[in-house]
Amino acid sequence: DVVTRFAPSPTGFLHIGGARTALFNWLFARHHGGRFLLRIEDTDRARSTQPAIDAILAGMRWLGLDWDGDAVFQFARADRHAEVAHAMVVAGHAYRCYMTADEIAAQRAAAQTAKQPLRIRSPWRDRTDAPADLPFVVRLRAPQEGATTIEDRVQGPVTVQNAELDDLVLLRSDGTPTYMLAVVVDDHDMGVTHVIRGDDHLNNAFRQLPIYSANGWDVPVHAHIPLIHGSDGAKLSKRHGAVGIEAYRDELGILPEALGNYLLRLGWGHGDAEIIARDEAVKWFDLGAVGKSPSRFDLKKLENLNGHYIREANDARLAALVAGRLGGQADTALLTAAMPALKPRAANLIELTDATGFLFAARPLTIDEAAAPLLAGEAPTILADLHAALDAVDDWDTEALEAAVRGVAEARGVKLGQAAQPLRAALTGRKTSPGIFDVLVLLGREESLGRIADRMA
Ligand code: GLU
Repeated sequence: DVVTRFAPSPTGFLHIGGARTALFNWLFARHHGGRFLLRIEDTDRARSTQPAIDAILAGMRWLGLDWDGDAVFQFARADRHAEVAHAMVVAGHAYRCYMTADEIAAQRAAAQTAKQPLRIRSPWRDRTDAPADLPFVVRLRAPQEGATTIEDRVQGPVTVQNAELDDLVLLRSDGTPTYMLAVVVDDHDMGVTHVIRGDDHLNNAFRQLPIYSANGWDVPVHAHIPLIHGSDGAKLSKRHGAVGIEAYRDELGILPEALGNYLLRLGWGHGDAEIIARDEAVKWFDLGAVGKSPSRFDLKKLENLNGHYIREANDARLAALVAGRLGGQADTALLTAAMPALKPRAANLIELTDATGFLFAARPLTIDEAAAPLLAGEAPTILADLHAALDAVDDWDTEALEAAVRGVAEARGVKLGQAAQPLRAALTGRKTSPGIFDVLVLLGREESLGRIADRMA
């Protein structure tokens, strides 16, 4: 049975890269009918915060990444981690190391002078004359000969010479477990079969494997996925713009299905399919099709997908999202009615919300700079004719309204656009808007005639 997990450290928001890791783990588990678990790695007590935990959980819910069972909190399991370390000492797979800070500093200085990476060699690995009551750390007795190979599902086989690894610390001198120990013990205890995570953890995997073997535990399958880079090819960071997923939701107005689809396609593919619904993704997802090289984040592509999902979205849902952005006071029935006319033009919820502005604007409207010239010259007399013609319309529907506006244009010997443009400016205060007949219907007879009257001769 497949068991995957997402193991974020709650030291900040749910990062776009973390969200993709979570998505891949979720998809892999759902594809195989397995379980997807969530573990909050809150062992860094100084940097882990409740708001960060809340943001991660909210972000996952927003993206529709439901986890099985309750979230596991790593810090709460510290006793179990220590118990494993002590058992490893008893079995000879780990040892108490009494090296002093000075001794470690000396090795660090020697490594620096020799321009070698620091590999701590503890004399206590082989000493049996343990002092009675001096502080100690527990170190892994890591293999020093031979090589370790990981058959990574994304990277392929990766081999490291064991001589390059050192005896990593499992328990600190205050008895608290290190990250490296906690991850392995938790993955084992949670029954994790597949570890899918960013390839910044590949080096850690080599240090974690000996902990599995020392305990006689099965090693999970590893899949280290390439990190996301910015458009300039550098690792994605704050200077590329938003990295936390709530910024995509709140500041960029992205729908969760668009972000999910985008993240899925970032580093994974199924033929040329671009639009991939969640149920198709579950059907198709596998690790073999995850790319080996870092993918570049492309906001334009995300916005194109977002525009697609906005056009597909249910009108009442969009109206509720827009109403939320307007402060919740807006008439949602009117917004819902307006969505078919507005949503084809919006790439995000900011634009969609902005496009509803004319619905609620108070008379006399503010006319923006681009629209002002449309109300000059002949416009006031055209508007007077339009007012008369529209006032005479019985059924206030697009067909009758179009016939009335066309009638005015013909009578004045002008093109339809020359009547429609001043009308648009008078009704919306802008140069661009949804179809003018839709605008008339949405505003209704009284409001439309009033706005025209405000601008006519
Ligand atoms: N807590 C680690 C992180 O947020 C992930 C550890 C893992 O997936 O093994 O980077």
